[in-house]
This record gives sequence, C-alpha cells and structure tokens, in this order.
Amino acid sequence: MTQPADSGRRPEALPLLRGQKALVTGANSGIGLATAIALGRAGADVVVNYVFGREAAEDVVSKIQSFGVRAFAHEADVSDEGQVVGMFARMLEEFGTIDVLVANAGLQRDAALTDMTVEEWHKVIDVNLTGQFLCAREAAKEFLRRGVVPEVSRSAGKIVCMSSVHQIIPWSGHANYAASKGGVLMLMQTLAQELGPHGIRVNAVAPGAIRTPINRSAWDTPEAEQNLLKLIPYRRVGDPDDIADAVTVLASDLMDYVVGTTIYVDGGMTLFPGFATGG
Ligand code: NAD
Repeated sequence: MTQPADSGRRPEALPLLRGQKALVTGANSGIGLATAIALGRAGADVVVNYVFGREAAEDVVSKIQSFGVRAFAHEADVSDEGQVVGMFARMLEEFGTIDVLVANAGLQRDAALTDMTVEEWHKVIDVNLTGQFLCAREAAKEFLRRGVVPEVSRSAGKIVCMSSVHQIIPWSGHANYAASKGGVLMLMQTLAQELGPHGIRVNAVAPGAIRTPINRSAWDTPEAEQNLLKLIPYRRVGDPDDIADAVTVLASDLMDYVVGTTIYVDGGMTLFPGFATGG
C-alpha cells in the first residue's frame, strides 16, 4: 500500500538533486520560499538568500534542514555587487561549490509612465535584471572552475532565471517591470549560448499569476480574482508550488537537454485568451 504524500500533493523526497548545492535568491517569501524548500526536499543543500526578514528566512532554513540536508540563510541585496560576491564566497566556503542558481529575487514599483520616477525605474532594473546578471556571473565562475562532476550531475551547472509572462506580454503601468523581464529573457538566452559549450545550462521559468505578496491586489478580493481569471484559460490562479516544482525538474538531469528555453508556468496566460471570444 502506498504512503500518503507529505503535502497531499506529491510524493515524498524525490532525490532529483541529491548531493547538489543550490542558491535561491529572495527565498524567504512567495516563489523563492517554495522553491528553496522544493530543492531541499529534492536532496539539495540550499542557501536561502534574503534582503530583509531574517526570521522568515530562518523558518525556511529549518524546514529545509528537516529533510536531512544542509541550509543556511544569507542576507544580501542582489543588486549590490559586493554583497553578491560576498554571498557566493560564503557559499563556497560552507558548501564547497554551487550546482544550481535560482535567480528569483524581484520586485515591482508600479506607476504610469508619466508618473514613474527615475528611482522607481532604476530600483526595478537594478534588482530584477542587474541582480540576475551579478548572481549568474558569480555562479558561472565556479561552474567554469569546477566543470562537470558526473556523480553529481551531467551538467557543469544550472542557472534558472525567474522571469515572467511579462518578458513577452506588454504591461501598461509597469514599464520598468516589463522592461526588466524582457531583459531577463535576452540575458538568459545570451548566457545559454555563451556558457552552453562549457556544459552549463541556463534557462528561465516564466510564471503567470501566482498568489504571492508581490501581486496581492490582483487576487485578494473576489472581484479582483474574477478579473484575473479572465486572463487565465486554465481558470486557476497559480500557487508558489506550481513554480517550485517546475524549477526543481528543470534544474535536474531529467531536463539535461533543455538549454536556453523559457518554461511558461502560467495556466495558459500566454495563449492570448482575449482571442477566445474576440478577434
Ligand atoms: P515576493 O514579493 O513574495 O518575493 C520576492 C522576494 O525577492 C522576496 O523574498 C524579497 O525580499 C526578495 N527581494 C526583493 N528585493 C531583493 C534584493 N534587492 N535582494 C534580495 N532579495 C530581494 O514575490 P514573488 O511573487 O515570490 O516573486 C518572485 C519572483 O517571481 C520575482 O522575480 C517576480 O518578478 C517573479 N514573478 C512573480 C509572479 C507572481 O505572480 N507572483 C509572476 C511572474 C513573475
């Protein structure tokens, strides 16, 4: 007889990432939190990056440690070069190496174009795009130094960029955010082309509408949720585990031939649902 799954949703401890070392940025909330836990459940040791909210980060660490793997929290602003370099140095010191980077940290500072300040523009580009560049650069240095360790993974390293459907869907009132995610798409593809010959896989996951603090106003009243569901052919708002599961499989050797691709995890949001009845 089969045992019930621990979350009621999936089987216990798929060891897809056994022996691997992962770093997840922005891992004390929403998608990053779920992803850090999923990677730990899949057997990886995990660095839980956060910029504020130490207690929440330590809770994630405890949850991951309960799977019998190692984890620690590290405070760093991903848009600060010195702090990112310091974070990777600590990871190499404590875990010895890195196999998986999930560049997830991100934020929104929404405003109509004519109201948007240059500070709001820079903040979003700095965290969402420059932050991914800095983390990818530091991870790639270690991947290149170490190369492939066949007992651990077929690949010399995996980078998963957390993008968004807004890497291809324009979004009025969010010019900074959409531009940052469009940039993430081209950053991801360029790094995949540049690093592929070294056995490094770079890909992106593009969430649709996922229930997290970043977009609370889009789902936290019945009216808002009904409006949102019109944009989702599958008629369900996503949850962070939908993304965490996709990242886990993408980072594993099950997806070893997937390079330079975006996996849209969006309930069909990128299918232009307006055309189901219009057009
Ligand atoms: P969230 O607000 O719950 O989490 C964002 C995380 O990033 C938090 O832990 C936050 O502290 C961290 N962060 C912000 N600035 C940082 C910095 N300078 N350095 C380090 N960490 C920082 O939101 P979320 O929905 O979980 O977002 C995670 C990622 O998913 C983001 O890149 C976001 O753009 C993307 N995304 C989310 C959705 C969605 O519907 N929720 C859709 C598409 C893409």
